[in-house]
Amino acid sequence: MTKTFMPSVKTKEELEALQLEGLKWTVSHAYQGSPFYKKRLDEAGVGPDDIRSLKDLQRLPFTTADDLRDQYPFPLLSVPFEKVVRIHASSGTTGKRKVLCYTQKDIDDWTHFFARCYEMARLTPEDRVQVAVGYGVWTAGISFQMGCEAYGAMVIPAGPGNLDMQCEFLVDFQSTVMCCTASMGLLLAEEVNRRGIRNKINLKKMIFGSERSSDAMRKRIEELLGLEHMFDIPGMTELYGPGTGLDCIHHTGIHYWADYYILEILDPDTLKPVPEGETGEMVVTTLRKEAAPLIRYRTRDLTRLVPGDCPCGSILPRHDRLLGRSDDMIIFRAVNIYPGQIDHVLSGVDGIGSEYQIILDRGKDGRDYMTLRVERDQRVDSGRDPELRDRIGAEIKKQMLVSVSVEIVDYGALPRSERKSKRVFDNRDK
Ligand code: ZN
Repeated sequence: MTKTFMPSVKTKEELEALQLEGLKWTVSHAYQGSPFYKKRLDEAGVGPDDIRSLKDLQRLPFTTADDLRDQYPFPLLSVPFEKVVRIHASSGTTGKRKVLCYTQKDIDDWTHFFARCYEMARLTPEDRVQVAVGYGVWTAGISFQMGCEAYGAMVIPAGPGNLDMQCEFLVDFQSTVMCCTASMGLLLAEEVNRRGIRNKINLKKMIFGSERSSDAMRKRIEELLGLEHMFDIPGMTELYGPGTGLDCIHHTGIHYWADYYILEILDPDTLKPVPEGETGEMVVTTLRKEAAPLIRYRTRDLTRLVPGDCPCGSILPRHDRLLGRSDDMIIFRAVNIYPGQIDHVLSGVDGIGSEYQIILDRGKDGRDYMTLRVERDQRVDSGRDPELRDRIGAEIKKQMLVSVSVEIVDYGALPRSERKSKRVFDNRDK
């Protein structure tokens, strides 16, 4: 296939030049089109003419989820209303929902970079893509579909749920690619095996959207369905929606579309950049977005940049999978710690379950102490506790540079909840 959706630029220098051009355009566009941004920029003492290099990004003020809620229902609007052709909203549980407007160009841009996701996943026009994510104002299944059609593969707009129908489509239409959440992927994989239809289907790839998935879950899906590749597709409504990046077939991190937005990784406490490769909060600035541009929008999502070059040779930089939310950050002996990092370390240790608790205390010596309470795996004998304790302690020390004491408890001893379990218990001076 000759048509490509990859960036027009070929080198990192050209990419940076494109970013600077986009940044200048965004600041000028937002300043002229949005009273909110004009006020913010004036207050920060920085205007469109002050953007001369990418370093000037750091002079710009931040935008937050509160700003979006304060301006409900049409926040950050920077174009005349007649240019808006669509809205999407996030289905947040607290306070007012975040609603974002799109111009036709925004939709076209989104479609273009979503098509790039399929190119990154090495699909061909022969592929048949079953889109099993939601359609509507809260979700953006439509972007999976529009990107697929632009790419030239065949889309099956199945929508979520309905395992009967999904299985039927897999057999009848011989779908080769499935787009769904990881939990839906697992249900489907188990259903396919329960029905004994694995040899009647032709599924090769899965693209997982908008949900953290454990390595164990992914491995199980891969085994049950015999997949060649599983990809992670990040996305948030504020930044168009799903499709803002994808891991390539080498799976070394998520290539993100740096020609559409700038990603900063900042320490959520100091709001200064963290050293490359370290975990921090994702802060995004759009380069072409018209209706609701983002200037240093604090996503509260945590990840890290992946240093070095990818074997695929793409100039598009990579970030890791999402490691949790910055609101969950713990400061322990001057080190920033995220529960997601502990989760990640524990998932690499055999012999333990997935449940854990983090307990923080202040000792008589005035220092902070951390205890990690971890469940033993159901099939493992308590005689292995000392070995598990040592191994977990050593891994945490190695990967996170902090010392913890580890307690191993019986399988099922820690409380479980359908919703998010409370894992952090901070008993330091209250
Ligand atoms: Zn790559």
